[in-house]
Amino acid sequence: MRDVTQLHPELQGKIAELKRLWADAGLNVAIGECLRTAAEQDKIYAKGRTDGTVGTLTNAKGADYGSVHQWGLAFDFCRNDKERAFDDSDGFFRRAAELAKQKGLSWGGDWKNPVDKPHLQLETVGGERLITNGTTSELKKRFGTPENFMKTWEEWDMQKRYKSTEEIRADKELGASAKVYADELDALIAGGVAIGRGGSAGLDLTEDMVRNLIYCSRIVKARV
Ligand SMILES: [Zn+2]
Repeated sequence: MRDVTQLHPELQGKIAELKRLWADAGLNVAIGECLRTAAEQDKIYAKGRTDGTVGTLTNAKGADYGSVHQWGLAFDFCRNDKERAFDDSDGFFRRAAELAKQKGLSWGGDWKNPVDKPHLQLETVGGERLITNGTTSELKKRFGTPENFMKTWEEWDMQKRYKSTEEIRADKELGASAKVYADELDALIAGGVAIGRGGSAGLDLTEDMVRNLIYCSRIVKARV
């Protein structure tokens, strides 16, 4: 299925960041297959072994849950160009993959058997390595089936949380807003507004919560 929202939330977050990086680099990337059912996996396994023209496509059978696609931790990509979708004459796939690797993804183009240039996967989730030596055995050991693994996703918090205004100030991803947010929150705290446990070290705020607090305080200030 070409549905990014069926992937693990952490991978969805990385894809959102990657879309910006790819666009900035002039790479027009289309997202292909994401989550794969056992039946779909069996079809691909069989095709590579019965269709003499394509060669081996995967080493993983459906019921083995051996494909990272079945665990929602992989997706395929190509050019966003119907006629040249898999044209790699200009090194398109490596260039797109290099940016993905900077975001912590692993690339199928680095594999030996089979080489899988359109494939990217997330091996470390929440700081824990769940894909070891390219296999899903750690996932199977911990969760048994993809369904059980997916149940843990609901508890997943995609947004990082700031524990202090210093953390906000140091967050490069916020760009120029980092200093503005941190200064305004510091001023609120200094002015006696209790946030979290009080004091700038007792925060537990997502980026959205930080923004809302600042907008509200600006509205109040504008009225006084
Ligand atoms: Zn793939």
